Amino acid sequence: MIDASGKIVIPGGIEPHAHVAAPIMGHPGLETAPPEQVSRAALFGGTTTIVDFAIQTPERDLFAALEERHRRWQGQSYADYTYHCMLLGDVPSSVLAQIPQVIAAGFPTFKVFTTNIRPNVSDRMLRLGHIAAIMEEVAAHNGLLVVHGEDDDIVQFMYRRLKEQGTEDWTHMHKAHSNMSEDLAFRRVIRAAEWTGAAVYFVHVSAKEGVQAIQEARSKGLPVYGETLHNYVSFTADDYQKPDGMKYHTYPSLKTEADRQALWRGLLEGDLQTMATDEYCTTYALKVAGKRIDDVTGGHNGVETRVGITYTEGVVKRGMSLQRFVDITSANAARLLGLYPRKGAIAPGSDADLVFIDPSVHKTLTMDDLHISDYSIWEGWEIHGWPVFTMLRGKVMVENGRLLGERGSGQLIPRKIDASLLTRPRCA
Ligand SMILES: [Zn+2]
Repeated sequence: MIDASGKIVIPGGIEPHAHVAAPIMGHPGLETAPPEQVSRAALFGGTTTIVDFAIQTPERDLFAALEERHRRWQGQSYADYTYHCMLLGDVPSSVLAQIPQVIAAGFPTFKVFTTNIRPNVSDRMLRLGHIAAIMEEVAAHNGLLVVHGEDDDIVQFMYRRLKEQGTEDWTHMHKAHSNMSEDLAFRRVIRAAEWTGAAVYFVHVSAKEGVQAIQEARSKGLPVYGETLHNYVSFTADDYQKPDGMKYHTYPSLKTEADRQALWRGLLEGDLQTMATDEYCTTYALKVAGKRIDDVTGGHNGVETRVGITYTEGVVKRGMSLQRFVDITSANAARLLGLYPRKGAIAPGSDADLVFIDPSVHKTLTMDDLHISDYSIWEGWEIHGWPVFTMLRGKVMVENGRLLGERGSGQLIPRKIDASLLTRPRCA
């Protein structure tokens, strides 16, 4: 018997976008925080399932990439987990041919980049021909394409121009990773999706033009979905001006106040479906080591704060319904990524992943409240309500600030997406 009086009971949060034990761009040999650290922080923050990435490389096909992730996660995680497959660069036909088998094995989501993100990187982006070929495979086999959408021509040109102008310190990041870049890339990808019949999930939507492109596609009946991040709806490019303002940076970039408001409207009205983190946990020293637009570290050490910040900023400050709050922090990620109804629901037959939010918690976050890394951009943030209890598959993992669960409790969860979500924009 567990007393939940005075608490709000929600299904465990699902983090749809986390880079765990991942190579850190520009720092060969270094990795982001490992599964045991990220999953532990996730549970403290009310998230019970994490979606990481299995990265295909020229030396590693999709099955080898999944094997590599199994070795990193198995027996190490406090929370449940799975991975998107990430396809990089000039993807060989032999790898494209593996897509149907990988979907059948329980991994139906494939991430691609339409940009190399930085200058002097050539092995990250996929050209549109490859993307269309992957779209044909996912459309035929009930998969979902996950897209980091930015226009590489715009991004690379602006890096060069900003350098020539002597304005290459990190505060100019949003000029390289611009609104126009997001607009052009999203629309090109959506058009290809229309040709191929593929469903698309745009990660880290950052610009009002991105929200608009998704809204227009959905209004035409296309299965197009969008994610934003809790730092994108709480900070703007003005925060880059602070002395250590690069700590707020996540690719593509923070944008303006008008963009921030558009992202909130998207979340509240249904044009955006999920709130993610783009978890990429490093130390503070590493996060602020880069000082230029071409060497700052992206990603966000935010897996622990996502649910609580969304509650404060969405439900308390903006009147978001609790149903919508659950949709964007858990149920929609479960639906779109193929975990539903095992995850993302409180229902007979679903896993008993339960989180209590205590709405009476009013305080300013300090590092003592958090359980990962040596910094957080949320230090000093005022919160109203916070996750205080987390249960994973019926087992109490966190209660009153204490970790009760064990490392290795987390399981790999196989996924299968409801086909109706892949032909129409069924999930709002
Ligand atoms: Zn990411």
